[in-house]
Formats: sequence, structure tokens, C-alpha cells
Amino acid sequence: MKVMKFGGTSVGKPERMHQVAQLVTADAEPKIVVLSALSGTTNALVAIGDAIAAGNRTGAKNKIEELEAHYANFIKQLVEQEECVAKATAITREHFEFLDIILRISFSDALYKDILAQGELLSTKLFSVYLQEKGIDHLLLPALEFMSIDVNEEPELPAIKYKLNKLLQQHSDKKLFITQGYICRNARGEVDNLKRGGSDYTASLIAAAINASVCEIWTDIDGMHNNDPRVVNKTVPISQLSFDEAAELAYFGAKILHPTCIWPAQHSNVPVKLLNTMQPQAAGTTIAEDAQSTGVKAVAAKDGIIAIKIKSSRMLLAYGFLRKVFEVFEKYRTPIDMITTSEVAVSLTIDTDAHLPEIIKELEPFGSVEAEDNLTIVSVVGNEIAETPEVLKKLFDAISTIPVRMVSYGGSRHNISLLIGSEYKKEALQLINSGVFGL
Ligand code: ADP
Ligand code: ASP
Ligand code: MG
Repeated sequence: MKVMKFGGTSVGKPERMHQVAQLVTADAEPKIVVLSALSGTTNALVAIGDAIAAGNRTGAKNKIEELEAHYANFIKQLVEQEECVAKATAITREHFEFLDIILRISFSDALYKDILAQGELLSTKLFSVYLQEKGIDHLLLPALEFMSIDVNEEPELPAIKYKLNKLLQQHSDKKLFITQGYICRNARGEVDNLKRGGSDYTASLIAAAINASVCEIWTDIDGMHNNDPRVVNKTVPISQLSFDEAAELAYFGAKILHPTCIWPAQHSNVPVKLLNTMQPQAAGTTIAEDAQSTGVKAVAAKDGIIAIKIKSSRMLLAYGFLRKVFEVFEKYRTPIDMITTSEVAVSLTIDTDAHLPEIIKELEPFGSVEAEDNLTIVSVVGNEIAETPEVLKKLFDAISTIPVRMVSYGGSRHNISLLIGSEYKKEALQLINSGVFGL
């Protein structure tokens, strides 16, 4: 059995959904198809939720009407038969009625998550109506019945595995299952999600849970490129990556993959393929245990980084200092991305300011604390790059005009990370593209 995940642009137009139906019926292997919301929908739902939260109900109402009009148009070109048009219309009405009700009741965090879930619920139900029109046998599997996160908002793989396999056994006559990406239930049993871009995570978790033959991530580009195509003009697809390399690229900003979506597939050793819905014949990228080749493969950049420097002469020859520092970050469940130390100071980076004031307050007894934002981590990723000759020289020659704030090298065999001001990101990625990749 395989998993095929289609992102927002892959289902964002009726003709694309038609093409997805062709792709999922192209071979006889049983499959679980994971769909994102139509492109633009989750952003619209976020805007609706934000407007309601801010007490702007008129603004929210206008946005809801605009979105409903978009779906009315979508349906017109998605299905033809009168009966299917009626079904699709009833589905959209039901979901927009839900949003209308939310406008009238008191708002909460849980309701916000309910709003965000509407996109995936709509896309999968509408796709199911289209499959019915085409006479394609399938079953809609509600993700809310098997996808769950624990109190720490981490996916519960053993529970997901148990529930999903039970559902599949109950429908062992079916070959094609459709389910929602992104949405899940939390430890309180409420509707929640796996964070933005989370449909990739859903696909990888399902692939691990069923021990799939492959986890295919279908998107709008022909695989992982060597550099960010949104920032740099000339980029090329990479044919092969190891799980470790792909995980580093995803975590350090390659938007094509959700930051933490690799570990479930890696855990069950299921290969991941990145493929292009608009160009299904393109080779794409295969991600598997073995990296196949050594050397630099790609560079990615992660914005919104905050650097914290703690300076203290008490650090000199002291032990236990770093532990105390780390405990503060642990307490506020804030991951540290980069770290460098000297005899009298430690600098580290985080990617969220959610608990920044509390963290600074608790670090102050250890020494002087400085925080700086608007920073970007640029990560050069490859296999055994620490052992690849000339990489460091090429990299630093390439970016000699860019002020580098921190360097992390040797932490893993796959990564060299640099911290720079965000205003230098574009220039740095371009310089690395020509200086390191020769493009
Ligand atoms: P989907 O909606 O299918 O999940 P995303 O927009 O989340 O698609 O991810 C695909 C996009 O990721 C591409 O269109 C591209 O602009 C962006 N991207 C950023 N970095 C990379 C990279 N290194 N390789 C490929 N795509 C990248
Ligand atoms: N629809 C969600 C988002 O836009 C999840 C996803 O597309 O992966 O973030
Ligand atoms: Mg995505």
C-alpha cells in the first residue's frame, strides 16, 4: 500500500483535482490519498479566525462570503451531473453554515482550530464527490478518527498506527482511501492541527503507521531543489537525498517539506518521493536511508531567528553552567537551533519569541543577556560535508561580503549553518548558488 499526498496547488483548481483523480488511479496498488485544503483556503481561514478573535465580525463575515463564492465557482467546474452538483453544494453549504454559526457564538482557541480544519474537510469531501461522479470506488477516512497529538503536541505514532490499521481492516475490500492532511485531535479530544504545511506530516505519519511501500508528496515543483526557488533564479532539482539530509533541509527552511515530517518515514524506513503534479513524468527527488553520494547537495534558509547571548565571567572554568542555561529553554519548551560557546559567553538561537521575556528574565541571574531578532540561519546541507575538501573555503569565499554572526560546523556530518542578518539572506543565497553550486 502506498501513500500519495497532494498539496494545496495540486487540488487548487478543478482541472487539477481531475488530474489528481487520474494520478491516484494510474496503477493498481492500494493507496491512502492525503489531501491539503485548496490553495489559499487555510490562509483565508486564518484571516477569518483572526478577524473574529479581534472582534471584527463584519470583516470575518465578508471573508466567509468571499470564500464561499470561491467554492461555488470551483464546484461548477469540478462536477457536471446534477446529482453531484447538488451533493457538492450541500457539502459546501454545511461547512459555511458552521462558519456562520461561529460568528454568532463566543470565541475560543478550540473554535479557532475548528475554523482552520474546514479547508481539508472541504477538499476531501469535494474530491470524493468527483470520484463518485467518475464511478471510482473509494472510501473517505476521517483523519479525526485516527490522527492524534499528545499533551506536548507531538503525534502519537503507536495510537495512530493502532486506530488507522483497525479502520483499514474494517474496509479491507477497498483499494482507495481518501483522508485529510493537517488536521488531528489533541489530548483534550478537540480538533487541532499539525501546524502550517502539516499535510506532509500527516502523509509521513500514515506511511509509517501502515509501513507503506512509498510516501509520495505531490506538489507544484519537480522535487527538492538545491536552493530556494522563491529567492534565487537558477535552481536545479536534486535526485537523491538521505533522510538526514532531507530532515535538515526541511527543518532549516526548505518549504517544500514540513519542518519535522521526515522522522516518521525514517522511523519505518519508508522512502519518500517528492513529485510534481503538473509534470508527473519528472524524476523528482527520492529520499531514503542511503545518501548515494557525498558532498554538498542544497542550501536552505530559515527566517525569524532570535539570537541570545549570555555573558558571564563565572562561566570561566565552571561546570554545570550550560545545564542551567538549557534548563530555562526546556522549561519554556523552546528548542535551540544553533549554539556557540567561548570561555566567557554562550550564544544560541531560537525561532520563536513566544516566551522570550520569561526566558530572558530567568537567564539574567547567570550574567548579562542580550537578545537580537531579524536573523536568518542559512544551512548548507550534504552528505559527509565535513569531510568534503574545499567546502568551507568555497563557502566562506562565496560569502566574503556578508557579515556572519555565528557559525555551526561539525554538529552533524550533514550541515554547516551560518547566522546572518535577514537583510542579507537573498544576497547570501545567490552568492552560495554561484560560489558553491556553480550555478
Ligand atoms: P504544497 O502546497 O504542495 O504543500 P508548498 O508551497 O508547501 O506546496 O511547497 C512547495 C514550494 O516550496 C515550492 O513551490 C517552492 O516555492 C518552495 N520551496 C522552497 N524551498 C524549496 C526547495 N529547496 N526546493 C523546492 N521547493 C522549495
Ligand atoms: N492546509 C494547511 C496549510 O496550508 C496544511 C498543508 O497544506 O499542508 O498549512
Ligand atoms: Mg506544503
